[in-house]
Amino acid sequence: MYHEFHTENIAARAHAPQVAELLRRFSSSACGEAGVPYEAFCDEVMPAFGTDLMVLAPTGDGDYAYVHYGREIIRYAGGSRLGERVSTMTPQLARFTIACCDRALAEGRPSYTVHRSLKTVRVSLWERLIMPATGSDGSRFLIVFSRPLQFREELLTTVLDTSPSGIVALRAVRDDAGNIERTVIITANRRAAAIAGREGEDLLDGDAQASLPFLADAMVWRRCLYAIELRRADMIETSFTSGSRSVWLQIAVAPLADGLVLTITDVSDLTAANQTLQSRAATLALEIGRERATRRALSQEIGQREEREQELRRLAETDPLTALLNRRSFTEKAYAAIHDCEEGGTALSLIVVDLDHFKAVNDSYGHPAGDAIIRAFADLLLGVVRTDRDLVGRFGGEEFAVLLPGAELDSAMRIALRIQDLLATRHLPVSETLSLKVSASLGLATRFRAETLSALVERADKALYRAKNDGRGCIRISDRDLSVAA
Ligand code: GH3
Ligand code: MG
Ligand code: MG
Repeated sequence: MYHEFHTENIAARAHAPQVAELLRRFSSSACGEAGVPYEAFCDEVMPAFGTDLMVLAPTGDGDYAYVHYGREIIRYAGGSRLGERVSTMTPQLARFTIACCDRALAEGRPSYTVHRSLKTVRVSLWERLIMPATGSDGSRFLIVFSRPLQFREELLTTVLDTSPSGIVALRAVRDDAGNIERTVIITANRRAAAIAGREGEDLLDGDAQASLPFLADAMVWRRCLYAIELRRADMIETSFTSGSRSVWLQIAVAPLADGLVLTITDVSDLTAANQTLQSRAATLALEIGRERATRRALSQEIGQREEREQELRRLAETDPLTALLNRRSFTEKAYAAIHDCEEGGTALSLIVVDLDHFKAVNDSYGHPAGDAIIRAFADLLLGVVRTDRDLVGRFGGEEFAVLLPGAELDSAMRIALRIQDLLATRHLPVSETLSLKVSASLGLATRFRAETLSALVERADKALYRAKNDGRGCIRISDRDLSVAA
């Protein structure tokens, strides 16, 4: 049970003005711990305050008896307790009252209390001023001012008036057969009138269906009737048009006696916001779909462009006649291979090849035949190297280069010999009816540490030049490599 007990600042705490007045009179009459002289004080205050006073006398066994019970208290409490003992009240309230009285008697000064009403239906809180007194025969008394501090209907009214929801209570009016004829509004707060579009009008006693536009909806009305008949709560969402505006409502329906309490919340703003969100989500989904399609088209376009670029790059890198690396890309890739071999400390060899007396081939068989020979020789070269690692390029005319990363002089020599061997044993095809035997001169150089590509090519070229000078159709190794081998 809620309660307060104060002995300080009583006048400031109290709500009824009588408390301050009684306190003032108590102070001027009090004589020490005995409190006020009982008979004289009663004579003084009873005429003006008696209706709100009760007087308690200790019974000697830890209890108190009511020896006076004011008319106003009877009115609020619904009956008199005159002659009764405090201990017959609700135990919590009895304990609290006895403790307050004991303290007031012991301390000889007034106390102010507030407690929640447990039994009295209309009252929510009581305030009391408890004043100790002593009779002329020495017997003790407590003169208690007791007043409702807060009423339940005040609470209810405040709740109704300040609620952000519309609240309407309806009562069913039935015909003789017990069927509901209509429903009458028995309570409606201002917010309900505002939601119903009947601001400032008194909805009380009106026909609910006629006064509240949302009850015109047959579905809503049917569910309200069910709620009354089946005494079942419900939650309804509905909308109606007020002027040019759509009003969306959420209505909590609770049965009350032979009727209902409707708690109505205007969710128009929420609903509008929700609708905006939904339509925005739909637009967004559409845009995302479009964007995806665009992106797909774009990535296809990019893919195609990349393929084209790759093709162009490949074309730029390759010699159109033989599909071998052209001089420029052979050089680029050779730089990279040299870099790797330098890093890994591995060997690298280069063979340069020039077909012998090629002018004569052109002169005898025509330039296209010469081209066919060049192509066939390119294929021959590709057949003797490891294409995943070795580089084969056409340096120009009928001159070729083979770079062999990882190859020492002897393995480069094996490959050079294999080329010579193939040329010696094979005719190169020119057309379906013609094939020719050609010879080639080869120059060979194996890279030493830190040697540049151009220096390496130059050494291989010099070796090739010697091969030509030595009668062609032979392999020559760079001088420097020879001296190292020796
Ligand atoms: P050698 O190398 O043995 O000294 O004699 P060669 O006749 O091969 O002499 P050289 O290397 O000086 O001449 C190369 C000739 O190759 C010149 C040119 O007519 C021919 N030639 C160069 N490029 C092509 C080509 O793409 N196609 C054809 N058919 N002939 C080419
Ligand atoms: Mg030649
Ligand atoms: Mg040449």
